[in-house]
Amino acid sequence: MKFKYIAATAMMMAAAASTQSVMANNNSDFNYVVDRFADIEVLRYKVPGFEDLSTRQKALVYYLTEAAIAGRDILCDQNGKYNLAIRQLIENVYTNYGGNKESRQYKALEKYLKQIWFGNGIHHHYSMDKFVPEFDETFLRYEVTKLPADKQPADIDTLCKVIFDPTVLAKRVNQAEGADLITTSANNLYEGVTQKQVEDYYNALKDTTVANPISYGLNTRVAMVDGKVTEQTYRIGGLYSDAISRIVDNLRKARAYAENDKQATVIDLLIEYYTTGDLATFDEYSIQWVEDTDSQVDFINGFIESYGDPLGMTGAWESIVNFKNIKASQRTEALSNNAQWFEDHSPVDPRFRKDKVKGVTAKVITAAILAGDAYPATPIGINLPNANWIRAAHGSKSVTIENITQAYDEASHGNGFNEEFVIDDATRQLLDKYLFITDNLHTDLHECLGHGSGRLLPGVDPDALKAHGSTLEETRADLFALYYLADAKLLELGLLDNPEAYKAEYYKYILNGLMTQLMRIEPGKDVEEAHMRNRKLIAEWCYEHGRKDNVIEMVKVDGKTFIKINDYERLRGLFGELLGEIQRIKSEGDYEAGRDLVEKYAVKVDPQLHKEVLDRYAHLDIAPYKGFVNPVYTPVYDAEGNITDVTIDYTESYIPQMLRYSRDYSPLTKK
Ligand code: ZN
Repeated sequence: MKFKYIAATAMMMAAAASTQSVMANNNSDFNYVVDRFADIEVLRYKVPGFEDLSTRQKALVYYLTEAAIAGRDILCDQNGKYNLAIRQLIENVYTNYGGNKESRQYKALEKYLKQIWFGNGIHHHYSMDKFVPEFDETFLRYEVTKLPADKQPADIDTLCKVIFDPTVLAKRVNQAEGADLITTSANNLYEGVTQKQVEDYYNALKDTTVANPISYGLNTRVAMVDGKVTEQTYRIGGLYSDAISRIVDNLRKARAYAENDKQATVIDLLIEYYTTGDLATFDEYSIQWVEDTDSQVDFINGFIESYGDPLGMTGAWESIVNFKNIKASQRTEALSNNAQWFEDHSPVDPRFRKDKVKGVTAKVITAAILAGDAYPATPIGINLPNANWIRAAHGSKSVTIENITQAYDEASHGNGFNEEFVIDDATRQLLDKYLFITDNLHTDLHECLGHGSGRLLPGVDPDALKAHGSTLEETRADLFALYYLADAKLLELGLLDNPEAYKAEYYKYILNGLMTQLMRIEPGKDVEEAHMRNRKLIAEWCYEHGRKDNVIEMVKVDGKTFIKINDYERLRGLFGELLGEIQRIKSEGDYEAGRDLVEKYAVKVDPQLHKEVLDRYAHLDIAPYKGFVNPVYTPVYDAEGNITDVTIDYTESYIPQMLRYSRDYSPLTKK
């Protein structure tokens, strides 16, 4: 199952809209912004609380971070089969370059390299479009001739074609209806097979009678081998063996420092899964993992989310190592402990509610390292595992990564966004005061309760909403969160201290959905990404349905468009109404109604408003996408070689980190 990640966009926009948060003043000495290029800003994040972990926990974190970075090349190769060769080629030219480093060609090469690192390949991490290099092919070819023989690429002609020909491997994941989604997608999850062949293959393989199906295709590449559709498994001895071996070596070292037996079992099962590739073992691992709620240190390491696969089957490799933020977790625990109350009071037809909401565990975590599909661009909330039956029987872990949301927030101070787009001073002050907390609560509600709420009517196919499933699922989770943000229950639980606080998130949400998120769309293009569609759907629907009562207004001041919300209470009512309808669509599997909503509200862009947003945004010079560099962990050993401490350092910047990773953590490239 998909949609368990919030792309970091909601928070990004929130961050961009927040000029001064409550903790703004504590961190003037910490330099959050590391680099800026193309449409990207690279930030640092702090790891508060790391120093307070025990030596044993620090050692555990250290080896898990090593296991995380070791998988970096896997994702790069999954994203496209020429990615590693191109990354290495451009890195070689970049590091061996002896010419004028102020020249246009060199600068353009550097920018392209930074983009490749950020996208883990030659496609944009978000739009999925291939990067357009701004240096010339002749420049690249000439510089290649100057490389030492052992750094020459094997097939420069092919690589140049892939880099420079815009028609070759143009889009990493193609979702356009009607096309062969496999042959038209540039990822490396399939080779020489058509969509039909793959679908036939899995249909023949899948046993629909079992209650606990494995996640078919999660850890395989599907290729035509000797005229036969064949799964090539990611495991030791299989595909990506060298990288996986190195991950496993570090998992073994980490295991020696496990916090308890349960966690040791989790690591053992993961090692076994990486060794055999057996997806039943992965399910066992997932169950043990979701049930380990005692350990403070936790991690994800594996083939997890399937957004990179147009068929939604193969997991992109990723790792996040983290530890629980015990104090902040009291917030999500309060929500989880009341999950049934929220379910029972949700504004949906009681037939679509869950009688018993099970196993919602939630915590706030501090990320210690981001890797693979979570690096440099990273989610702010995670809800795993993805297997439906495991979620139903054993629950899921839902987390909010607060040191990341804090970094977004703090890095955005004073960027001028508020002054440009927020209608008046009173609203700006409201955002300053309450957006950080309400946005975190929105994420908590979305992840802990939203996705887990509601039920399908018996016999309804969970995939009935097809291509619109992701958008509508995110819509559902967001609406659940928005509706409850304004509920007195949150004050009763002590999560908010002002009954007006929710208005900050409401304003930002509508502003973003109707206007400011358009800055991420190129002129003339539609909204495609599921989370963006969901936000547009909600905002446009509420705008239209609140029109007769003038709930949301678009007003012009000095020729500029502003969002004015006249009736917040009525807006909450609209959120509830739409939630009822979206839940009905999901519960009944009403594909047509879902499609109609998406097509009417979520896709098409008003070109005039779009242009205005782009113009105003361009003046602010804010990067639409953000990502992170990791801190550097260094173990301190005693004379016997035991770890006595692990130090953390934040000074490494983007280029040195990427080059170091390529040098020291790149088992899949030839040296
Ligand atoms: Zn979600």
